[in-house]
Amino acid sequence: MTAETTRTAYRTCPLCEAACGLELTIAGEQVIAARGDRDHVFSHGFVCPKGAAFAQLSADPDRLRRPLVRRGDQHVEVDWDEAFRTVEAGLRPIVERHGPHAIALYLGNPNVHTMAGGLYLPTLLRTLGSRNIFSASTVDQMPKHVSCGYLYGNPLAIPVPDVDRTDLLLVLGANPWESNGSLATAADFPGRLKAIQARGGRFVVVDPRRTRTAEHADEHLFIRPGTDAYLLFGIVHTLFAEGLVNLGRLAEHVTGVDEVSELALAFSPERVTAVCAVPAERIRGLARELAAAPTAAVYGRIGTCTVEFGTLTSWLVDVVNVLTGNLDRPGGVMFPLAAHLRPRTRAGGKGFKVGRWHSRVRGLPEVKGELPVATLADEIETPGDEQVRALVTVAGNPVLSTPNSDRLDRALGGLDFMVSVDPYLNETTRHADVVLPPLDATRKGHYDFSFLTLAVRNFAAYSPPVLPADPADMDECDILARLTLIVSGQGAATDPAALHERLLEQSLQRVVSAAAPPAAGHTVAELRTLVSGDHPAERLLDVALRTGAYGDFFGARPEGLSLTRLLASPHGVDLGPLQPRLPGLLQTPSGTVELYAEPIAADVERLRGALDRQRDDLVLVGRRHLRSNNSWMHNVPALMKGRERCTLHINPVDAARLALADGDDAEVMSRSGALSARVEVTDRVMPGVVSLPHGWGHDLPGTRMSVAAAHPGVNSNLLTDEFAIDLLSGNSVLNGIPVQVKAAAAGPVTT
Ligand code: SF4
Repeated sequence: MTAETTRTAYRTCPLCEAACGLELTIAGEQVIAARGDRDHVFSHGFVCPKGAAFAQLSADPDRLRRPLVRRGDQHVEVDWDEAFRTVEAGLRPIVERHGPHAIALYLGNPNVHTMAGGLYLPTLLRTLGSRNIFSASTVDQMPKHVSCGYLYGNPLAIPVPDVDRTDLLLVLGANPWESNGSLATAADFPGRLKAIQARGGRFVVVDPRRTRTAEHADEHLFIRPGTDAYLLFGIVHTLFAEGLVNLGRLAEHVTGVDEVSELALAFSPERVTAVCAVPAERIRGLARELAAAPTAAVYGRIGTCTVEFGTLTSWLVDVVNVLTGNLDRPGGVMFPLAAHLRPRTRAGGKGFKVGRWHSRVRGLPEVKGELPVATLADEIETPGDEQVRALVTVAGNPVLSTPNSDRLDRALGGLDFMVSVDPYLNETTRHADVVLPPLDATRKGHYDFSFLTLAVRNFAAYSPPVLPADPADMDECDILARLTLIVSGQGAATDPAALHERLLEQSLQRVVSAAAPPAAGHTVAELRTLVSGDHPAERLLDVALRTGAYGDFFGARPEGLSLTRLLASPHGVDLGPLQPRLPGLLQTPSGTVELYAEPIAADVERLRGALDRQRDDLVLVGRRHLRSNNSWMHNVPALMKGRERCTLHINPVDAARLALADGDDAEVMSRSGALSARVEVTDRVMPGVVSLPHGWGHDLPGTRMSVAAAHPGVNSNLLTDEFAIDLLSGNSVLNGIPVQVKAAAAGPVTT
């Protein structure tokens, strides 16, 4: 292939949170290669194996291009009109007979990587009006939302470590060397960590596994899974006991310090060391180092969220940052300012509450508009008013990603109707009556509504489609718009263009109603003539950019951002290092950072009560791999090469005790289920801990993912327990699962 027969296009990688720029080589109507975009303002040429496999993922022959409808036990291709008529015939009678709560919605993680997810799902949810909304957030990061809700009054106000300027980074339960960051968008996280060391700083990792991040760290401390809250309280206790608390610039804007001091009394390093297995003197040392460092940042992620005290742990991460004066200052943890958002300038607001409604069966409180996915099977299986009879899934695979997934798998089989928006016939969508596949990433535009609010440096980038769409394909915005029209009762045949236009007018109406500079005497109709974009999502983005933090205010600030400006900047627009944003960002009733909240204090009491709890002999944790992101990249040949990855890591001490050797098959049992896994003996996990990656188990019948099926692995969520949740957030406990392990009798065992 010569340069004359190929062309180059630039695009943000949509495959994880790092938001790297890709340089794509295109021949005809096919992407044939992907590499890092060396001129990208944020990623500077970095690419990981997933991004490099972008072409294979987009051209995956197993990817669905046309809708499927179930006929008996087969899924057959139909045209879009028939698919939507089938959806209408399935959903409308259920709404009319049983009301909106009889329809549940499950939103998977990839929704935060699409423009349709950010722009069209809120309208679908509002229109449906169901209380049974579930998402991957409650098997992932909900504790961070809840703790930030209490601290800052806004569950979406999440501070990120200022990795490019910090002197000391303490990493808990995160493996950014492989994940490239989560709830902290930081392309080339490894390079940024190396840069900390190159400028004389340090990073310390606390994790029950010696991850690749831990390998490169200045120090790695093993910690018993699920006990980070004790370690962090030991640090907080030391800060108070040794007079090391220094709020710095924020002293006037923080309340609840005395109450936190009281709460920490019970958690001296000597008291918590036996629980968390980190030496007391090292806990004190960490407190002193964080207090003494010119700048420091504590960053906790999945291992701090998916545990019994996930919200407390997430809260304590921020408490330590506040008490050491590192919140909202360069080199500490800071709040990004994304281009599509307008900054708040006045502190104060309604604050954050949970429990506006409760789940019907287990009475679990609503959090951030949704219920814990750990109770979805209860809601499907339990008869009664408002029983869930139909399910809509969008880009989700809860059969692999949620606890006791075997039970959920059976429950999905009992639904009256199910429709899935998904490009694959996978372990979940095989239950669907209708599958609606969206366009692949090469044929749609991309802007990171979610991750630009979490970027460690402010920047903006928009990627237009790099290939034309086949007229017979359907864009995800159109799919979600048509689903919205169906649940609203307007009918499967209604043209979605009317909804697109209504959403645009509503966004302009909000601009005009705000009576802020962008509106400046304009009417909605006048502003409408100024909006640019070839696609409904582009037009909505244009409005958000032009009225956002760096916007051109519809021409009033010509140097400002707009869709046109981003289209002319294929490598992105750098918006500079993070800037202090407090107190203006705070939406708590007091207008301060509220360290103390009643629900938090009540859970601290529970944490204290668990200090002397008998600890389990063996617990299960997950693990992340550079070539995987949950379940949906296991059908890409380039990412499945190499040695078997879905193995059970076990420490040599435990292996000897259990008479297990490398390559053996072990039976792993928990309260919820059992499975058989290949053993890998390694001191990368601490004694008393075994580890399996999640997102595997591709051996169920009725799927169409040939590469994944050839490398099925085992589903770790057969072992996790739907009744084990973080009480404050409803987040599932996926780390620290009590298990028994023994040599498998004969052959694989799964239940
Ligand atoms: S780190 Fe994430 S965003 Fe960057 S290339 Fe890899 S998958 Fe894509």
